[in-house]
Amino acid sequence: MNRLAVVALSALLSTPSIALGQSCSGNPVTVQILGSGGPAINPTRASSSYLLWVGSQAKMLIDMGGGAFLRFGQSQAKQSDLSLMAVSHLHPDHISDLPAFLWLSNQNRKDALPIVGPTGTNDVPAFQTFLERLFDSKTGAFQVLGTTLGGPPVAGAGGGVRLEVSTVDTSKTEPSTVFDRDGLVVTAMGIPHGPIPALAFRVQTRGVSVVFSTDQNGTHPKFIEFAKGANVLVMHLAIGAGARNPIHAAPSVVGRIAQEAGVGRLVLSHIGAFDLDAAIAELKQNYTGPLTIGADLQCTPVQ
Ligand SMILES: [Zn+2]
Ligand SMILES: [Zn+2]
Repeated sequence: MNRLAVVALSALLSTPSIALGQSCSGNPVTVQILGSGGPAINPTRASSSYLLWVGSQAKMLIDMGGGAFLRFGQSQAKQSDLSLMAVSHLHPDHISDLPAFLWLSNQNRKDALPIVGPTGTNDVPAFQTFLERLFDSKTGAFQVLGTTLGGPPVAGAGGGVRLEVSTVDTSKTEPSTVFDRDGLVVTAMGIPHGPIPALAFRVQTRGVSVVFSTDQNGTHPKFIEFAKGANVLVMHLAIGAGARNPIHAAPSVVGRIAQEAGVGRLVLSHIGAFDLDAAIAELKQNYTGPLTIGADLQCTPVQ
């Protein structure tokens, strides 16, 4: 090894271990952002993912975009504590870290993991089909994860925890209850996101409610009712001031929805590469309530 390499190696070895992220476990109910970015490559924001903490346990995981696997580790959440994983839609920036998350998960958790996702359309497979294409023990891309769908373990391979899969019809016009266990009541509703409908989730626990709107264009007439009075509403600020897009709501529309829903706090996430100050200024023309601009690993107590 030459001298330069020795210097480089010793510098690496003396680097203090990477700090664990902020734990959100100190409040009755907390929203933690694991990924506050969207699909674009970003030096500080992972793609979309959230945790809902109840006391000292992360009980619900919403989405698993690229980078969320690392953020989950930094959050110090435990796979064994999760009551539910909710998947909003099948764009890669919301689901691409799922195989990494499940691989060897059976070493951390014995109980099946309830997981809910959307039905399909011509443009996207149904959630069950998506999972089979990934994990089927004979035809899947990750045959070693066949145990997640009830397949036999592969000799010498690690496998993953069994999934308890359910789907929500995104074309239904009324919200559906998708989970009512462990002190969590979760309802879901389809929202328009271009050709790929997505699911928004509303969670009620310990007397408070949180709504996770994923990507949407803001045109669903009933979404405001769905989000009405939530203590915290997480919305996606995917496009900048003055931009218009059939898939994503403009900042002014995000502001109007939060205002009309009368939420206790608006948390902005899925933040793209645009002039954020200008986007917030446009949003604030329609929204006057408490506002949090999301960041990875940030904790927002729900009260
Ligand atoms: Zn997205
Ligand atoms: Zn999307």
